[in-house]
Amino acid sequence: MNLYLKKENLRILITGGAGFIGGCLVRRLLSTSKAKIFNLDKISYTSDLSFINNYKNKKNHFHLNYDISNPQETNEALKKSDPDIIFHLAAESHVDRSIDNPKPFIESNILGTFNILESARNHWNNLDKKRKKSFRLIHISTDEVFGSLGKVGKFSENTKYDPRSPYSASKAASDHLTSAWFHTYKMPIIITNCSNNFGPFQFPDKLIPLVITKGLNNLRIPVYGNGENIRDWLFVEDHIDALLLVSKKGSIGKSYCIGGNCEKTNLEIVESITNLLDKKLKKEFSHKDLITFVKDRPGHDKRYAINFENIKKELKWKPNHSFEEGLSKTVDWYLDNQNWVKAMQHKSGYKGDRLGLPKTLTKED
Ligand code: NAD
Repeated sequence: MNLYLKKENLRILITGGAGFIGGCLVRRLLSTSKAKIFNLDKISYTSDLSFINNYKNKKNHFHLNYDISNPQETNEALKKSDPDIIFHLAAESHVDRSIDNPKPFIESNILGTFNILESARNHWNNLDKKRKKSFRLIHISTDEVFGSLGKVGKFSENTKYDPRSPYSASKAASDHLTSAWFHTYKMPIIITNCSNNFGPFQFPDKLIPLVITKGLNNLRIPVYGNGENIRDWLFVEDHIDALLLVSKKGSIGKSYCIGGNCEKTNLEIVESITNLLDKKLKKEFSHKDLITFVKDRPGHDKRYAINFENIKKELKWKPNHSFEEGLSKTVDWYLDNQNWVKAMQHKSGYKGDRLGLPKTLTKED
């Protein structure tokens, strides 16, 4: 797949490549291509670059420690990387944190995307004819921009935007800016809207790693509300397959919805993990007993589900991992990498506390 990645001298700029999904993309490209990978990441609580040390061809990885909310730094990163392709993933990414403090979401996700678009436009305008023609900017977004579904129906490329949280509103704004840069300046841009990802290296404030970490340490496992909120889950490696395919064969100016065809309630997710922990750890008690229902997230979207027929038909993409396979791999990874979790918790100061409860709501967990 993606023969273009074999091209010598290909220069790829990944923003947010020290994060969960960006890191997975960096690892994939380092192990399957000869491209030079420029990793623009300001290194925040969720970031980690220690994995680079395990790569033989780490000489092809260049970390650009810049903040995209700063236009000069963003310009500098574009100059240094001189990219043929940009995968733009850098963003504040946690809904609960956006409820606690929306400002960094506006700065990184909206202003940051504006700065990337402007620096990229300047860069693209100055490329020679051949490089200009093949240049692509892939803007990575979320299904959360579409709001919340009722019991039936699925999100598709034609769904109206209706974001409900500061996080999803900031991502929606970044999608609109990206789309405008295509229509106005004819920049070769493609947008992707993906459902919930899971897999190794995800910071333990997100549902799946949080539940694994709590379970491993015999701590109460919090479930918001009645646990009936539904998400559509995708193993992160399958998302990377889709992004690479989109960068090679996607139609300029289009958006692609990417999903796992895997709707689960939060309670189903938590119970799948506690079952796996019971099997793998063989303790005298069931990890299910640790489940505790806590006050719901304010404005908690009820249901997300993605119709990915378009990318399936046009680019022949579909998920390669079943949910069970992906989850088992993920749980194994966290069991084997507790030192990574501890190091991330230590570095960030995050110890698994409840996030996203504004002062007007009572803390009860
Ligand atoms: P993450 O929080 O793990 O990683 C984001 C990275 O971006 C971090 O390393 C962070 O330091 C960097 N970053 C943030 N603001 C920056 C700034 N101003 N300048 C430079 N670097 C900055 O997030 P993730 O889960 O890997 O998500 C990556 C992207 O994918 C985001 O755009 C997110 O909206 C999107 N997305 C995520 C999911 C999911 O389930 N995680 C699903 C669909 C789309």
